[in-house]
Amino acid sequence: MLWKLSNRAIALKSSAIREILKITEQPDVISFAGGLPSPNTFPIQEIKNAFNHIITADEMSGSLQYGPTEGYAPLRIWLAEYLSRRDHTNIKPNQVLIVTGSQQALDLIGKALIDKGSKVLVETPTYLGGLQSFTQYEPEYISLESDEKGIIPEKLNDKTASDANFMYIIPNFQNPTGRRLSLERRQQLAEKAIRNNLTLVEDDPYGELDYQGHRLPSLYKLAPENTIYLGSFSKILAPGLRLGYIVANEKLINKLVQLKQAADLHTPSLTQRIAYHVIKDGFLDNHIPTIRKLYGHRCQAMLKALQKYMPTTVTWNKPEGGMFIWIELPKNINATELLSEAIQHKVAFVPGETFFANAIRTNCMRLAFVTVPEEKIEQGIKILANLITNWSDI
Ligand code: PMP
Repeated sequence: MLWKLSNRAIALKSSAIREILKITEQPDVISFAGGLPSPNTFPIQEIKNAFNHIITADEMSGSLQYGPTEGYAPLRIWLAEYLSRRDHTNIKPNQVLIVTGSQQALDLIGKALIDKGSKVLVETPTYLGGLQSFTQYEPEYISLESDEKGIIPEKLNDKTASDANFMYIIPNFQNPTGRRLSLERRQQLAEKAIRNNLTLVEDDPYGELDYQGHRLPSLYKLAPENTIYLGSFSKILAPGLRLGYIVANEKLINKLVQLKQAADLHTPSLTQRIAYHVIKDGFLDNHIPTIRKLYGHRCQAMLKALQKYMPTTVTWNKPEGGMFIWIELPKNINATELLSEAIQHKVAFVPGETFFANAIRTNCMRLAFVTVPEEKIEQGIKILANLITNWSDI
């Protein structure tokens, strides 16, 4: 059969790196590659209890039935209250749309805001899954200068800001770098957005994973009319639930609802009710600190191992939260080539090049530390450091 594929489908390329990384799923590989939350944090008993509750006679008709596209009303109300309290904002339930993971939010936003050639501003580097969603709608990416504190608002001129359809930004413990946008830059960016009628797509799956529990104001709080805020239950409950949410001005939410209707009618009634039942009485207030503690320890273990074993030509950041550390290698080392050899030594990571929208850089990599126990972290970093030392000598 010769399929008559659309140009959009033909243009999709499967990533060579994803193919290599499939090998890293073998159990004897120490993998710093996957951006997966630690299964130790999944609240198994609470999810079982919630499931048993929602399939009782009273709840079952709703749990197993079609539901509204906007999402399960009690969950939307809960989120509006939780986010308003947490971020000192004023969010109404009608401003919340429940989606199947924030990944769906990225796709819906691409559909809603990008035409062929639309200008989309992104961080350097940025989340690969964001690029994959947006690229389908053929934008022109403009990569913004970024450093260890995130994007540099001063380097964004008013003309570029006002010409863009939106800026995609992950202000907290960014994927792939683990960086957090500083308070001063948040304020500068919010002012610039308001002045230039620039939409900010604030993707925040890692915001709760702040090891010290000290949150910086969201861009949504600083520029509510300009910002589309994306949240996710993947890193604080379980990604298999596929639950995320969009918060924005009600008019935009209504547009996104129309697009979501065409995509999947609604987010599963079952998972929305499970999540609501687990969280409604304050479960997250105790649960999130346990995740922060575990991830904080693993981050420290990796930083310690990097300090102990890496040659002085290698540099990295010290994240204050999240799941990732970003490594800069000597210029002559290509991280994709290094990965092929590292896999033979049973260690894996993600080469940095996949995270650049323009001007790809090859001497960098992302290390995820949260799924690997501390003794394995040390072992894996030692192996990697030896390889890098050998490669540096060539
Ligand atoms: N945005 C970012 C920055 C992410 O890192 C991820 C997950 N890796 C997502 C969105 C998608 O998350 P979800 O599981 O909520 O779809």
